Formats: sequence, structure tokens, C-alpha cells
Amino acid sequence: MSKYIYSFHEGTKDMKSLLGGKGANLAEMTNIGLPVPPGFTITTKACTKFYAEEKTLWPELKEEIKVHLKEVEESLGKKFSDVENPLLFSVRSGAVFSMPGMMDTILNLGLNDTAVIGLANSTGNERFAYDSYRRFIQMFSDVAMEIPKVRFESLLEDMKENKGVTNDTELSSDDLKELVELFKEVYKEEMNEDFPQDPMRQLELAIEAVFASWNNPRAIIYRKLNDIPHDLGTAVNVQSMVFGNMGDTSGTGVAFTRNPANGENKLFGEFLINAQGEDVVAGIRTPNHIDKLKDIMPEVYNEFIDATKILEEHYKDMQDIEFTIENKKLFFLQTRNGKRTAQAAINVAVDLVEEGLITKEEAILRIEPNQLNQLLHPNFDEKSLKNAEAIAKGLPASPGAASGKVYFNAEDVVKAKNRGERCILVRQETSPEDIEGMISAEGILTARGGMTSHAAVVARGMGKCCVAGCNDIRVDEENKIIKTKTMTLKEGEFISIDGSTGIVYLGEIEKVLPELSGNFGKFMEWVDEFRKLKIRTNADTPKDAAQAVVFGAEGIGLCRTEHMFFDDERIPAVRRMIVSSSLEERKEALDQLLPMQRKDFYEIYKAMGERSVTIRLLDPPLHEFLPTKDEEIKDLSDSMNIDFDELKDRIENIAEVNPMLGHRGCRLAVTYPEIYRMQARAIIEAALDVKNEGFENIKPEIMIPLVGHKKELKYVKDEIVEEISQVFEEREESVEYLIGTMIEVPRACVTADEIAEEAEFFSFGTNDLTQMGFGFSRDDAGKFLSDYEDKNIFTKSPFEAIDRDGVGKLMKIAIELGTKTRPDIHLGICGEHGGDPSSVEFCHVLGLDYVSCSPYRVPIARLAAAQAAIRERTNYNQNDK
Ligand code: PEP
Ligand code: MG
Repeated sequence: MSKYIYSFHEGTKDMKSLLGGKGANLAEMTNIGLPVPPGFTITTKACTKFYAEEKTLWPELKEEIKVHLKEVEESLGKKFSDVENPLLFSVRSGAVFSMPGMMDTILNLGLNDTAVIGLANSTGNERFAYDSYRRFIQMFSDVAMEIPKVRFESLLEDMKENKGVTNDTELSSDDLKELVELFKEVYKEEMNEDFPQDPMRQLELAIEAVFASWNNPRAIIYRKLNDIPHDLGTAVNVQSMVFGNMGDTSGTGVAFTRNPANGENKLFGEFLINAQGEDVVAGIRTPNHIDKLKDIMPEVYNEFIDATKILEEHYKDMQDIEFTIENKKLFFLQTRNGKRTAQAAINVAVDLVEEGLITKEEAILRIEPNQLNQLLHPNFDEKSLKNAEAIAKGLPASPGAASGKVYFNAEDVVKAKNRGERCILVRQETSPEDIEGMISAEGILTARGGMTSHAAVVARGMGKCCVAGCNDIRVDEENKIIKTKTMTLKEGEFISIDGSTGIVYLGEIEKVLPELSGNFGKFMEWVDEFRKLKIRTNADTPKDAAQAVVFGAEGIGLCRTEHMFFDDERIPAVRRMIVSSSLEERKEALDQLLPMQRKDFYEIYKAMGERSVTIRLLDPPLHEFLPTKDEEIKDLSDSMNIDFDELKDRIENIAEVNPMLGHRGCRLAVTYPEIYRMQARAIIEAALDVKNEGFENIKPEIMIPLVGHKKELKYVKDEIVEEISQVFEEREESVEYLIGTMIEVPRACVTADEIAEEAEFFSFGTNDLTQMGFGFSRDDAGKFLSDYEDKNIFTKSPFEAIDRDGVGKLMKIAIELGTKTRPDIHLGICGEHGGDPSSVEFCHVLGLDYVSCSPYRVPIARLAAAQAAIRERTNYNQNDK
């Protein structure tokens, strides 16, 4: 018989894929002797079987559950279903990759109308017993039966109001008894039956509900956002309860062994006295700082500190710990590697290396490349900040700077984002239902909740700026207004929030780029020690090029010259070039463009120093540059001295049914070689100019796009070479240069041996190669590729991560054939995939010389390249992380 359940003492931290993160770590903590309430984990394998075959708990699994229940009963000397001294359980999900707040938890399971009396008697604490029961009814109803939480919350609020109290803890046991009755009535009203009294039935329904929560909408969105496969399933942890709500010597809390916002090596945590699990993260009561525990229960505090040290040394990473104190006895309910901001991630990784706990390689493998994004984005400009009006201050929950219009619910944020607006999601407090709004917002502001509230934890995980627990404001979600002491802000008004200081400002504030020094600089130096791939950038302007150099770019892999043609000053000349009906007319327009292009290239060379620069000749279909409105056509016809109707005819003639497969790339130069000749001249003349200014090693790389046939390339290349020879003759000086090609048409891949006879380098244009490999239009596939992801046909769009088996195979063929002809051929990639970490890893494996990506992705690609090199060396398996 297969084994689907493991007791905590049977597992280890390395069994994550079977036991989920929480289960594996509960097992590990049990094994290293920390106080963990006993329990067992139902495996992810059981969850996948539940989905694939059973859809309900099957008889053998139920038997296995009973065996493990018995074991816990024996170890604690208590019985599940006992009416005198009942053993209660928590039932919690635990996926392989942590998905905080995304799935569901049920506490106090096992209570019923008689057991609650037993619990009251055995603990001598009636208030606590009924508090536990009302919590259980609410959680069970919400999680297992999908009865809206608000039905219970509003009853609780009414009760507090009637009794004139503000906190749950001020309600008496009679109040709670009354609430229990009201809650059961809600249950009956909604379900048409009484609240289930049989603990075993409660347990089975709860386990099924946790399995089902794997596929609730917010869990699905979270997985998509974090590239977590949908077929892993979740484990379920069934753990004997310990109670933080037993009175003033009990409590519950969460703590990070270091600061998850900035990485500082200082315990960072919060707790609530007389409270149960969810109270801390739900932000319902504002928790105490962990240091306060020292005053209230010094022995427990010391024990806690010792345990955090043990855990950090054991896991060699910053831990995120959940604990409960029951009558001054400390228990651990969870530990995991803590989610952290990018700044904290870098600081912790560098500190751990310097503390001798981990190696540089381990530090490099710990940082998720995409997380660096957070560090590369702007902060508020100091000068503008001086004049800004601060209107409130909350907790600095997740660093960064954001400005946007205020919206008060997730739906409005998503709509506004779709209209192109930048938004700040403002909530009283967030809950998992707000996830889409949090994704779409520039930043998040909440009035309630602490540093470990839902808003804070999720925002840090996303790298999104967040100010939480801002008591200076009142958020009226219904009327969509924020009130401070002095003003009222309505939906759609601009605010700015600073997640590093917690300050909220009125209006928009200018932003500046962050410094890339300190630990970040040190870390990136380590990264560069390990990587083999060079990292270039895709840049079309000197500004982008300069930015990329700051981020560590070693050259330009793709300068798309067409982007230079869209400038307002140039577009008339570009349009004249396109609609000319004779060579003379076209040459006239090209003569006007030549000095502009020469200046473009000169400035880009200057920005790049002597780093390699690959300039691609004109690529898109010509009609993209042409006017569409009658007034614009009229302006052009006037400036060209031709009849309006004739011009309109010419424009219509140029239009294509399928422009992406049309007259673009080198095909244009087959028809109009003079265009590429002008561009090649501009490139070479600019190179000679900078060479004369001291760039002695300048060696322009001219790249021809969309080549599918060797003869096509040869024709275009011969034209260019002839033009360049003319420049050398005219200027009586020369410069070395290379002519290569994009590899982006499948035919080019399978004839790469022939193409390499003409091309001195290959650069894979994986955007077009994916488009033509699959036959998916780049412009339209977005509309349906999400269906492929939803239906598990693709885990990720092939336009984001290289399709290794298909498009990747075409690349492999091209490399094999190309190097046969020209063993030292220089190989790179310049499609969007050049900035995607998994595609960078693939490029490393293929043995490319470089990847090229947008400036802001350069550090990400550097890190991904280093990780690929380290993994290759150590055969490191990503799933063991
Ligand atoms: C490509 O096709 O991958 C590429 C880099 O070129 P473009 O995106 O400009 O077509
Ligand atoms: Mg292309």
C-alpha cells in the first residue's frame, strides 16, 4: 500500500516536494528537538491523486489518517472526539513553494457542543473555550463551506458595539457563548443543516477543503505570478493545537531572524497576547514588537532567542518563524526561509558569506534574478521630496517609491490600470482577495495592520512598495475617500508613498535611479567572477546605452535603427524616402537622413566607450512609418509637391495583408539597397570619427535582419561592402568591421552552414524565431496564449521563456551548422528572451558568447548567467532549493 501520510518525526527538511515546505520544516524542527506540537502531514502525492482520480478522500487514506491520529493521541494522552478533555487540531495547507496567505487554514478542529464544555472544564477557562469554538465555526464555514466571512465578522462587530468594547479580548465568555449560537444559526441558514458535530467528519471535510484550496483563484494567480507549476498540489498538515488565546500568559506571533525589509541582522517580529494564529497576520489588532516579550515573559523570550539562533544556523538562512505561547510554554508552528525584499536578500546573502555561514556560490544561487528588478527602480528625488507635502505616516512595510491615483478596491485598480493609469491601492487592510489589485497597483497603502500583515508580507514578496498600518488616515472604502486630520482625498487623486520611510505625500513626486553600490555592488562583482556568458544590451539611444553601462552591460547586442526614424524631426524625410517613386527622389531623402543617422551612431559609440556595438539595419515593414490620417497625408503631399490622391494611392500600394511576413528586413534592401547603403555609410563614418578621437579599437558590427537564404544575405552584403569601400576611398582611412546576421527565420537555422559562409556573426532573434517557429503572430498571440497556460499546455508563453524543445532545437541546429563552416563564429541572442533567467540559462548551456537584453534587465541577466555557470559546475538541482 502506498504511504500518503508521514508523522512529523518521520520527515526531514529535504522532503519538501512530498511534504510541502511547512510539513518538511515541521518535521525538521521536531528532529532537532525544538518544541513542536505533534502531528502529521498528508503528502502532495495524496493531493495529486485527489485531483487526478478520487475527488474525495478514499477509504485507505481515511484509515491511514486514523492510524496517525491515534499516534498523536497516545503521545499527548488526550483523545480526539473526547468530550472531557478533547484533543483539537489545526489543519493547514503547505505547498512545495511557500504561497503566503494564498491557501486556507482551519484551527480548533474537533470542537462541538459537548467538547467545548469539556475544554472549558479541563482548562478551567470557559471564555477561552468559547472563543476557540466561535473561531472554529467561522473558519470551518469560510474555508470548508465557502460561507462568506463577513456574515460572521459583522456579528462579531455588532457584539462588540453592543457591549461597548473595541477588542475581541474584552468580550466575556457569555458574549462568546451567544456568538457561538449566532454563528451556528448562520451556518444552518446557509447550509440547510446543523453545524457538523462529528469531529472525524469535520476533519475529513477540512482536509478536502485544503486540497480544494490549491485551485482557488487567488492561489492560481499567485502561482502564475511566481512561475509555480499548477500540478504540484499541496500537502495538508494536521497538527495538535496549542493555544495562544488562553489568557494573559498566552499569545502568538511571527518573527524573522533578520529584518526582511532591509536585511539588518536584528530579530524582527511581532506578537499578540491572548490571541490565535490568524490575528497577527490579519492585522485586526495592532501587535507588539517582539522586544516587548522580554518585559512580559523574560524566560520565554530567552528561550525564543536561543531557538531562533539554532534555526538560523541550521538552515543557514534568515528564517520566518510562527510561534505560540500557551501558558508560558513556547511552541514552534512553522519555520521557513523568510520572504524578503531584494535589498534585504542581497544584504542577508552578503552578510551570511561574511559570517562564514555560506559560500559565495550559495549566496549567488539564493537570489532570484527577477527580484533584482526591485533594486533597479527609482526612489524619490531628494530635492523634490523637500518641497513635497507629507500628509501621513505609517509603517515602512516594503521599500520603494510609488506615485499614482488612489483607488479603494482591487477591481477599480485593475480597471484603471487597463485604462493606462498608475494607481495606489488604498485599503483599510488587505486580504487575499485583493491580490489582483495589488499586482496592478504601483504601491499599496493600508490604514491597519503591522509589518507582518497581509499587505506587508505580500507586497514584500512582490517587491512592491507598501506603507501599512497608517493610523493617520481613515479609509472610507464605501464612499471612496481618505481622510486625514486636515484633508479629504477622493478616488482618482494623486498621492505618493515611500515604502522605506512609511511617509505618504500629496501629489506626484519626481523619482531618481538608485545607487548600485555597497552590498549590491559587492554581490554583482561576485556574480561576474562566476559567469561565462557576456551580457550586452538592446539599446537604441545614447541614454539607454549609458544606463545599460551603469548596470554592467559589456556592449550593445542590438541597436534597432528604426526607432531612430520615428523622431518628429525625421519622420517627414523618412516618409519621403518610402513613398518616392524614383531612385533619385529616394536618394535625396536618404541624403537628408544620413547626417542624422551618423550623429546617432556617433553618440551611441561615445556612450559605450570602446565596447562592442551591433547595429541592425532597418527591419520593420515600411508602412509602419506612413501617415494614416488624411491631414498628415496632405502635409506630406504638399511637402513633396505631389497630388494628394496619388500619394494616397502609393501609400495604399505599400500596405500589406500580413506585414510581419512581408516586405521587411533584408527584403527591403533587396528592393531598395540604397537604404542599407546609407545606414552602412553612417555607421562607418561615425566609427571613423570616434576612431580619430581615440577609440582605436572600435570595430562596428553591422547586422542584417530577417535573412532566410544565403543568396539574400550575399546580395545585401555585397551592396554594403561596396558602399563601405567607397567611404574608405573618400576618407582615405579605414576601420575594421564585421558583417553578420540575425538568425530569426527557421530556414536560416537549417541552412546556417551556408549562411555562415557570408556571416561573421549570428545573433538569434528569438522573437521572430518563436513567431515563425510556432506560426504564432507576435502581435496577436497574447490574446490566446493565456488559455494555453490555463490549460497547462504551456507553463509559460514561448515569447517569454524560450521553448527549448522546438525553438531551442532550431537554435542548436543553427549553432552546429554555423560552427561547422566557421568554427569561431561569434554567437549571441537579442530577442526578449535575453533577459529571461531561464532562457539565459539555456543560452549558457548552448554555449553562446553573449545574451543581449534591455538595460534594466542587464543585472538580472548577469546573475542568471552566473547561476547557470554555478549550477552546471555543481550539478545543482533547482528543485532542492
Ligand atoms: C527578434 O526578432 O528576436 C528581434 C530581436 O528583432 P525584433 O524584435 O526587432 O523583430
Ligand atoms: Mg526580429
